Amino acid sequence: MSVLKRLIEGFVDFRAGYWRDNRPLFERLAREGQQPKVLIVACVDSRVDPGILTSTQPGDVFTIRNVGAIVPPYGPDGRYHGTSAALEFGVRALGVEQIVVLGHALCGGMRALLAEHDTQLAQFEFLKPWTEIMRRAADAVRLGAPELDAVATQKAVEQAAVVVSMGNVLSFPWVREKVEAGTLAIHGWYFDLRTGELSAFDPEEARFAPFVAASDPERPITSGNAQQLDTDRLLARLIDNFRIGKPGLTTASGTL
Ligand SMILES: [Zn+2]
Repeated sequence: MSVLKRLIEGFVDFRAGYWRDNRPLFERLAREGQQPKVLIVACVDSRVDPGILTSTQPGDVFTIRNVGAIVPPYGPDGRYHGTSAALEFGVRALGVEQIVVLGHALCGGMRALLAEHDTQLAQFEFLKPWTEIMRRAADAVRLGAPELDAVATQKAVEQAAVVVSMGNVLSFPWVREKVEAGTLAIHGWYFDLRTGELSAFDPEEARFAPFVAASDPERPITSGNAQQLDTDRLLARLIDNFRIGKPGLTTASGTL
């Protein structure tokens, strides 16, 4: 069976099962339009599907996917800003109330960022300048924790990139306005597909803490802490916490 045949078969199953079972939901969404309360910025990685991770339904989450789950800084220069356009639509047109930056383990985007001397990668036209947005995260990890092995460095950079993206989300003036008005909150999450663990960034403690139960605190950036948010300071503290953190899972290639 060809790969696409499998997808078409999957669609036939979806049409006969999920779509039929949820027909009233689809009809309501078609009639009333979408009103998602949550916007997730995720990676294009095929292993990290935000809808599957969160068991959500159509209409629940407005999803932006790009290489590395990166939010660029605010830069209205008339060029092609797909992520910023989607962020603008979600925040200004749809009025989402929560923004989640969802980083993940084994991210190829972050690996590309760390592989500066890879000659094959150097030939890509768009990948490098895009991931370079996170150079700040990679530099902060290398300077702050040079002793980390390659596996731990990659994880630290992946988590640092979530923090840089959270700061970048806040650089959009219409995001900051809503956060300061208390109508929008920004969250940083990290999914590790090796352990099945989802963690949330705690801006007070500058560390990622795993979600275990639905009652676990969400720890977003809100009107209460947005004013004092200093991305560089948070990055430095995150990396310090990473260095002194308890040893995690040990794999053949290093410690997670
Ligand atoms: Zn990725």
